[in-house]
Amino acid sequence: MRTPNVFAGPYLDRVAHLRKDASFVAAALEDPDSLLVPVWESRSLLRREPQGWSAGLLAARHELRRTIVDESLVMLGRFRGRVCFAAEVAGDQPPAGLPDDTCFEDLRMTGGRVPEDEAGLLAYARAMVLWRRRNRHCGTCGAPTVSASAGHVMKCTNDACGQDHFPRLDPAIIVLVTDGERALLGRQAAWPEGRYSTVAGFVEPGESLEDAVAREVLEETGVTVLDVDYHSSQPWPFPSSLMVGFTATASPDAVPRADEELEDARWFTREDIASGFPRLPLPASVSFRLIEDWYDSGASVPLRLTPGLKLWGAPRR
Ligand SMILES: [Zn+2]
Repeated sequence: MRTPNVFAGPYLDRVAHLRKDASFVAAALEDPDSLLVPVWESRSLLRREPQGWSAGLLAARHELRRTIVDESLVMLGRFRGRVCFAAEVAGDQPPAGLPDDTCFEDLRMTGGRVPEDEAGLLAYARAMVLWRRRNRHCGTCGAPTVSASAGHVMKCTNDACGQDHFPRLDPAIIVLVTDGERALLGRQAAWPEGRYSTVAGFVEPGESLEDAVAREVLEETGVTVLDVDYHSSQPWPFPSSLMVGFTATASPDAVPRADEELEDARWFTREDIASGFPRLPLPASVSFRLIEDWYDSGASVPLRLTPGLKLWGAPRR
C-alpha cells in the first residue's frame, strides 16, 4: 500500500449515520470540544508554525460562531475524537477576532506543508463549502434550497419538486506516459516558463476512465497509449475534482506533438529532470507522485533529494 496522496487517507471518521440525528448534531454544536473549520473566500484558515503550517481549527464556541448560522454549517465527522464542522465565513474582509498566528490561505499552495491529516480535513471542508455555495438553488426547478442532513444535502423548497441535491465530484484523469526511459510531459502557454506537467483532463459523459486517458493523451500529444494502469487518486477540491492517476506506455516510436491546448509536449529523460528543466508540479500533487515513482524506479538518488530539482505550482482547472 503506497502512502496516501496529500488530501487523501483515513484522516476522519465521517459518522455518516449521525447526519440525520438532529439531537446529536445540536449537542455537538454546543460541545466545547467540537471544532470549526472556517473557509473564507475559498481560502482555508491556517496557523503559522515554525516549520510550515497547521490547520487553523477553532473551538465551536469561538466568537466567530456567533456570525455563522447553523444552516451554513456542515458536520464533517470526528477528527482526533472531536466533532468538526465546516463553516463558510461571509464578508468582503477576513473576520475579526481570529488568533494572531492565523490567516486565510490558498490550500492549493499550502496543502503540502500542513500535517497530512489536517490537510485532508481542510480539503474536505473546502469542497463542502464550495459545493453548497453553488447549489443554493435547485437545478431542476430553480427554487431556493435549504440545508439538510447536517449540511450534506441541499433540499429544494418547492413542494412540487422537493429534489435532494448531493455533493458532486468531477472526475479527472491524470496520466504519466512513458516509453520506459523517458516521460511525456506538456506545458500550456499560460504557465510560468519552464513548467511542464503530466497530461490531465476531465472524464466526459459516455467514457470510462481508461477511455479518457487514451483520448486525452492522443488529443493533447498525438501519442497512442498501449497499456493503462491505475496508480492512485487524490481529492482535489479546486473546486470539486477527484484526480484519478494512471501510468501508461506509449506505442513504439511515438512522436509527441502539441495541440491547441498545449504549447509543447515532449519526452524528458531522468537526466533532464535532475538538471532542473522541466520544472515540475508541487509534491502535493498526484502529478508529482506519478513522475516521482517513475523517476525513482530508475535513478540512484530519489527525486525529492535531487539537488537540481525545480518545482512550480500545482495543476489547476
Ligand atoms: Zn426543485
